[in-house]
Amino acid sequence: MIYLDNNATTIIDPLILDEIHHTELHFYGNPSSIHSMGQLAKQKLLKANRDLAAFFGVKSEEIFFTSGATEGLNMVLRGFFNHCKRGHLITTSLEHEAVYQTAKALEIDGIEVTYLDPEPGEGAILPHQVRDALRPTTRCIALMWANNETGALTPLEEIAELALRANIPLLVDGVAYFGKEQFFLPEGVTACCLSGHKIHAGKGIGVTILKKSMSIEPIITGGAQQWGKRGGTENLPAIAGFALACELIKQNGEKDFEKIRFLRDYFEAKILKTLSNASINFGGNRVSNVSNLSFEGISGETMLIALDQAKIAASHGSACSSGALEPSRVLLNMGLPRKRVLSSVRFSLSRMTNLEEIEEACKIIKIIIKKLN
Ligand code: PLP
Repeated sequence: MIYLDNNATTIIDPLILDEIHHTELHFYGNPSSIHSMGQLAKQKLLKANRDLAAFFGVKSEEIFFTSGATEGLNMVLRGFFNHCKRGHLITTSLEHEAVYQTAKALEIDGIEVTYLDPEPGEGAILPHQVRDALRPTTRCIALMWANNETGALTPLEEIAELALRANIPLLVDGVAYFGKEQFFLPEGVTACCLSGHKIHAGKGIGVTILKKSMSIEPIITGGAQQWGKRGGTENLPAIAGFALACELIKQNGEKDFEKIRFLRDYFEAKILKTLSNASINFGGNRVSNVSNLSFEGISGETMLIALDQAKIAASHGSACSSGALEPSRVLLNMGLPRKRVLSSVRFSLSRMTNLEEIEEACKIIKIIIKKLN
């Protein structure tokens, strides 16, 4: 299989799998237990916590372990509005469902929500749009650093500066950004949610950075773990895996990101050169690993099935409850014509993608398009 669906999930790194396995076998105590096996596990947990805090440039008490970014985003958004009860939230119409549907649920609970649409030709929200949407009642801004469908980058530094000046908490969905570009958390970011399975670290683990300045009510109540903000025994093997994934990003990130970008650009150049009906859906400022293309006259769904039969994994829109594929809300909200949206396919690469796979994928795509045309 040529796996080009890394924004859905990534293949686990064998080194990380070893670390998870090792931790499961040798650090099986509950970190909350007072006996020596518990204390051994606690030391391992504290080390992962310290390493991650140093990596992200925050305090240990500002690192929270979750089951993934969906939980992290819920923990911050719901936890924050449960704390302040009312007010206004600024978000965007381009968010992943984890934020979008949570904002919709908050609206039902009486929170006022503004969903900003991108300006024509843009793939992300601009700082002046956020500034213009601010109200005296605005309590929080929640947006993604990079879009998972197009890779479009939000000008985060400017928005963070604006949030800092206005003294409004800024929650960032960092899932599609982290592990694709150098990570540096701007000062005005109050919370940032990340996911392990998008960085080769396995499923069911996420990290949420939550600055002390942002108060939340816990949405998972239980034991006093994680400073009482997220009850439940910590998933130590997965946490150790996440910490190692970050260490690998620290060691190799720069050259990995360069390689991924080179392969993505090479892929797009080759596809555009050989296929006259192909176009890039967002070619602006974006992360290294995403290529969202449309193939005029061909349904994205048909294309995906043909790709799968030819052993290439890619994606298109999102599955609705019937299992059929819905046109992408993100591309529609960017103003792309419905027909073009319906003919779109997202290819997403990772550090495990290689040149031979890209060459092979280009050949196969060319054959498929000729057949379907
Ligand atoms: N945010 C973005 C941008 C995503 O792409 C995803 C997953 O696809 C999520 C949030 C949710 O992450 P998780 O699968 O860890 O819950």
